Amino acid sequence: MPEGDTVWNTARVLQRALAGARLTGSDFRVPQLAPTDLTGWTVRESTSRGKHLLLRLTAPPGAPARATAAPPDGGGRDWTLHSHLRMDGAWRAYAPGERWAARPAHLIRVVLRSPGAVAVGYHLHELALIPTAEEESLVGHLGPDLLGTDWDPDEAVRRLSAHPDETIGEALLDQRNLAGVGNLYKCEVLFLRGVNPWAPVRAVPDLPGTVTLAQRLLAANRGRWAQSTTGSLHRGQTSYVYGRRAQPCRRCGTAIRKEELGERVTYWCPACQPAR
Ligand SMILES: [Zn+2]
Repeated sequence: MPEGDTVWNTARVLQRALAGARLTGSDFRVPQLAPTDLTGWTVRESTSRGKHLLLRLTAPPGAPARATAAPPDGGGRDWTLHSHLRMDGAWRAYAPGERWAARPAHLIRVVLRSPGAVAVGYHLHELALIPTAEEESLVGHLGPDLLGTDWDPDEAVRRLSAHPDETIGEALLDQRNLAGVGNLYKCEVLFLRGVNPWAPVRAVPDLPGTVTLAQRLLAANRGRWAQSTTGSLHRGQTSYVYGRRAQPCRRCGTAIRKEELGERVTYWCPACQPAR
């Protein structure tokens, strides 16, 4: 499941594959960008903000007006290709000539070619080319990024605390409070803290400890695609509660439960995470 760590890893893959490269071709397979041609554009850098990917590009002189329908100008030559993975998106980097085997071809939304690598974006969401100066319009609403260089636990706690009556399960997923936690880390953090997912934010005994643990869990999975919160990378042993409905709690043996909470499902141990 793409959460902050997956997006961070993806940004690094694109950075290694494309940073500094001049693109030799592009192929956008989404209507809003179909006429766009990034041939000759240079990739400055690839980075992530929460679950958003930002591929920063420099256009050759005169290119923006030709390359994009709107806005025709403004933003100078620095542009950002924004994408969001949501539940099912992915970027892959291939060597030139390598078969694009990661996903079915009909899921391809964009192809970026460079002399050393081909980057293919599958089932991307919110794909947009905007002036870099306007990045904030897409990511400015986000809370502190758990994997950002500017991670600020105090600010995350402040933002969470501003919604005292919201359930902690929903508040942790709200990217305006802190950016990067998805459903897996939400479930796991709450289990490890012994907090019931339906508890209101005001009733969570140690919010600083909760956000700090979330940051540590995500950071531990940087640089690898397998997501584990238990320390084990063995199949079936990578989580405490997430994806383990009806299986025994690793701590107390009680059957793990799964129920809807807001727009998402949540997993929890009714014994280790009792409602107060
Ligand atoms: Zn338990």
